[in-house]
Amino acid sequence: MADVQLIKSRLTAHPDFPKKGIVFLDIFPILRDPFVFETLITHFTQHITSHTIGLTETKKVDVIVGLDARGFLLGPIIALRLGAAFVPVRKAGKLPGQCISASYEKEYGMDSFEMQADAIKPGQTVVIIDDLIATGGSAKTAGELVAKQGGKTLEYLFIIELMFLKAASKLDAPVYSIVQSD
Ligand code: IMP
Repeated sequence: MADVQLIKSRLTAHPDFPKKGIVFLDIFPILRDPFVFETLITHFTQHITSHTIGLTETKKVDVIVGLDARGFLLGPIIALRLGAAFVPVRKAGKLPGQCISASYEKEYGMDSFEMQADAIKPGQTVVIIDDLIATGGSAKTAGELVAKQGGKTLEYLFIIELMFLKAASKLDAPVYSIVQSD
């Protein structure tokens, strides 16, 4: 598909960032070009409305959940286009008011994600978005926060999926990624 090739062509790889041995894939060149950014957002919104995730004409997605931090650059635009709510999942200690939290294991030690306690109502349908899925730890934790509030995650969306880490098998809903990387 031409739009997938266009999006893929704008990703850049940065060896040894943020530390030695890691090749960091950067999505920001996509956002620098309005045509490519538009192509990306349209690709995601059309995917959600194409009914492949169990939605119908009458059953729409209620909430787009974006992950800290690059999920915040994609999620609100997609939510507005779909007439859905946007809800952020943030690193612990960043959100005001009562929050629910869930911990996950990182390469070194634990980290914790939070969501505002009244952000999702029981029974609401949710799509979770971030720029990239690696081990799946962040996505899994976000899914747990949605489930704790009684929401139903329909799908996890990413620009890039690192296939060799096999993260999709850890999640409670299907993964859709535009670019699959080894
Ligand atoms: P995971 O929890 O191991 O799946 O890591 C995914 C999280 O790390 C996401 O929030 C990504 O934004 C971030 N991340 C890990 N590697 C990269 C990368 O190469 N490019 C951009 N983000 C990355």
